[in-house]
Amino acid sequence: MSLLELNNLSVQFGPFQAVDKISYQVEEGEVLGIVGESGSGKSVSSLSIMGLIDYPGNVSAERLSFNGQDLQAMPEKQRRKLTGSDIAMIFQDPMTSLNPCFTVGYQIIEALKTHQGGSKKELKTRAVELLTQVGIPAPESRLDNYPHQLSGGMSQRVMIAIAIACDPKLLIADEPTTALDVTIQAQIIDLLIELQRKQRMGLVLITHDLALVAEVADRVIVMYAGQIVESGPAAEVFATPKHPYTQALLASLPESAAGKSRLDALSGVVPGQYDRPLGCLLSPRCPYATEQCRQVEPDNQGDLHRQVKCHTPLDTEGRPVA
Ligand code: SF4
Ligand code: MG
Repeated sequence: MSLLELNNLSVQFGPFQAVDKISYQVEEGEVLGIVGESGSGKSVSSLSIMGLIDYPGNVSAERLSFNGQDLQAMPEKQRRKLTGSDIAMIFQDPMTSLNPCFTVGYQIIEALKTHQGGSKKELKTRAVELLTQVGIPAPESRLDNYPHQLSGGMSQRVMIAIAIACDPKLLIADEPTTALDVTIQAQIIDLLIELQRKQRMGLVLITHDLALVAEVADRVIVMYAGQIVESGPAAEVFATPKHPYTQALLASLPESAAGKSRLDALSGVVPGQYDRPLGCLLSPRCPYATEQCRQVEPDNQGDLHRQVKCHTPLDTEGRPVA
């Protein structure tokens, strides 16, 4: 039994298909990277797991389960309890996730209270422990700070402390370092990975940083326009990408010599509500697109281990298989 299981999950906003029948699993202790440009549906799919898609958004799935429990069939109250404790999420901008009106200590203690309880003194001790765990110096003195008194990096550490307060089995981190300075980014990622290993959490890391995913993820999912276009073990996918979109993303990394020309080949942006092409959604941007690509949507090829959604997946040399 997987920790998290999605089968054909879709999210629709009116006529707009933000997430289009995606399926994946996360195992206990596994780091899953989800990559793709903005607008690819990475965040929306995660918010739907948390039950955070509001009207008029509509979520449907053949299966959406956590630890074998069907999240869709669960009463609202029970699901909210689960998604605040066993599944936790941290967001891009810690400044907007923390409540500016309450102290750090108050916010951590509130999170602890909802899920475990204890005396005032016990809760305070646990809050200090958590701040220590996320590497905040002089934690005791920080409890009385308001969010505006913290730096961006410190705020994200506090958010992580709140997220892990209930010992989650799964942590979803949506671009957790995007709002931070480069040097701080690495520290926050190191912290997340350290906590993930120590507590054997499943970690879903949503990012546009492929180099990071290559370094820390066990498996990777590449999303484009709401669909999963490629998935598999991170090392394999990055060594020999089979989808032209993955190839283009990798080629746009600064270390890549082939960078420029490939990136030029992928000009344009992810299609929106009114310009979704027929056939393969990448066809207007794909350097290998054929007439078939412009007419017929490709199926998923491969097995659960490694999948690619393309009529002519690339071979190990990076050329389309005719
Ligand atoms: Fe490119 Fe065609 Fe593959 Fe789509 S199906 S990614 S257009 S080669
Ligand atoms: Mg996003």
